[in-house]
Amino acid sequence: MKSAIVESPCECQAKLYAELDEERHALRGWARDSRGRERPAPATAMHAQNGRFDVGFLCPFCTRNTLRSFEAEALAFRESPAAIVASTQG
Ligand SMILES: [Zn+2]
Repeated sequence: MKSAIVESPCECQAKLYAELDEERHALRGWARDSRGRERPAPATAMHAQNGRFDVGFLCPFCTRNTLRSFEAEALAFRESPAAIVASTQG
């Protein structure tokens, strides 16, 4: 399975990340603060059928709900890390 990662800064200076599948559904979300601490951050993709779509993040550091727009064409899909691990073991 291929997935793409989008990132956007939160207003609290943490960085918000979401991994999306090829239909632009959010597989997982996480956030990293300026000290490199990483925490899960619920992410939801909206209007995923449009060329431009939104991802809502719940930042675990400041608890803001942050909505960001992304261009579907800008996504870079790669084999997901799980798939890469599976192939190197085989
Ligand atoms: Zn934040």
